[in-house]
Amino acid sequence: MNKKNTIYNSDTIVALATASGMGAIAVIRLSGANAIEIADQIFKSYSKKSLVDAPSHTVHLGILEAKNQVIDECLATIFKGTKSYTGEPVVEFSCHGSNYIVEEVIKLCLANGTRLAEAGEFTKRAFLNGKLALNQAEAVADLIASDSKASHQVALQQMRGGFTSEIEALRQELLNFASLIELELDFSEEDVEFADRSQFKSLLKTIKTTLSSLIQSFSVGNVLKNGIPVAIVGKPNAGKSTLLNALLNEERAIVSDIAGTTRDTIEETLHIGGIAFRFIDTAGIRDTQDQIEAIGVQKAKEKIEKASVILFLFDDKDNTVSEITTFVKENYREGTKYVLLHNKTDLSPEETTAFDDEILQSLKGYTDTLLRISAKEGQNITELKRFLADYAQTLSHIGKATVVTNIRHYEALSNALQAIEKVEEGMQMHLSGDLLAIDIRETLYHLGSITGEVSNEEVLGNIFSRFCIGK
Ligand code: GDP
Repeated sequence: MNKKNTIYNSDTIVALATASGMGAIAVIRLSGANAIEIADQIFKSYSKKSLVDAPSHTVHLGILEAKNQVIDECLATIFKGTKSYTGEPVVEFSCHGSNYIVEEVIKLCLANGTRLAEAGEFTKRAFLNGKLALNQAEAVADLIASDSKASHQVALQQMRGGFTSEIEALRQELLNFASLIELELDFSEEDVEFADRSQFKSLLKTIKTTLSSLIQSFSVGNVLKNGIPVAIVGKPNAGKSTLLNALLNEERAIVSDIAGTTRDTIEETLHIGGIAFRFIDTAGIRDTQDQIEAIGVQKAKEKIEKASVILFLFDDKDNTVSEITTFVKENYREGTKYVLLHNKTDLSPEETTAFDDEILQSLKGYTDTLLRISAKEGQNITELKRFLADYAQTLSHIGKATVVTNIRHYEALSNALQAIEKVEEGMQMHLSGDLLAIDIRETLYHLGSITGEVSNEEVLGNIFSRFCIGK
């Protein structure tokens, strides 16, 4: 982890750390060189002890007071020195959660030498003070935003380190080689090799393998973070909206008998087995002259392209076997799971299973999953949910493997991989040390940008502005 400046920020910042609005408790946080002294001016502990003299990591009951006017009775938690979230003195007032109290306490802090914190400024300070690597700081935002078991596990794993130490260790080894190769340049007359080339080659191989597997994990990581996209497709009137309603147990999509009523796409998130699924109901796939509907159909095709799972609905009256199999074959993409849903089976006699057998026979190699359902009667909807949960489990061993979920990390890893491949090529071509050094430095730069070893104000501003105030 980076140990940068441990000089405290002279300006002390303040913000509400809990959600705004009425609540049992509101936590107001101060951070900066004078946090304890400022808090001491406005907080009177019942024990009569000053916060300045109190030991670190202690909690005090007392009152917050402005010009002899009591604002609230509250608890003050103090963190001294560098042992706090931000790596500088911190005070947290746990007040009663009234908007009025919060406003008055913040005003009081501002009048006594603090300034309002910017979005993400507490976490930014934690990063600048070496408490967190940059990717860990980003995971804090993901953790707060997590709303499913899977996205929570991924964010927690990243915040607690994730792939930080692995990247930092590899970067360190590469840095050592870069120094040795650059040292050789100083002795170029003497034709010496300080950097052991075979060791260097094996390091390059390790870096490449690590980067490749992290890059590959991005698609899984992204899905776990944002939910698995599932497209519901089929002809108009196949029962797509009815199915979406059955899955959600609510009347949300418009159901109608007139073909083409689901004009736009509708998206709903449903949690099954701790994993978020994003169900996308699409306008019926068919060639259409209707302008508005044409837009819907276009969107449907785009959604199919982005989906990990496709639920293809049909019934045995409105579709022929060849229509169904042709559609699947034409829209088939490697890596996408096709689930065939024979709908309206409440209206079909049992012998239509022959229809299903024929479809499965024709689609061998494309899919082997077919469920007979009735979206309207809710038949086999539980089985469909169970199938989706099992499928998600096979997609990744959640929580076991390290996954990349952040697009910034993904891009930096991809850039680092490209640069390291250039180093490898350079080695094969016996390029001179100074040329090798350029590509090595480039790799170091990209690896360092993930953890924040190298960063600039623009990048930091971009990252932390996405946080909420008070974090
Ligand atoms: P969409 O155009 O694909 O979204 O189709 P809808 O969900 O609007 O359904 C079209 C019609 O089929 C409606 O009248 C539904 O009630 C009916 N429907 C849908 N699923 C079933 C089913 O499982 N059984 C029966 N009998 N009717 C269904």
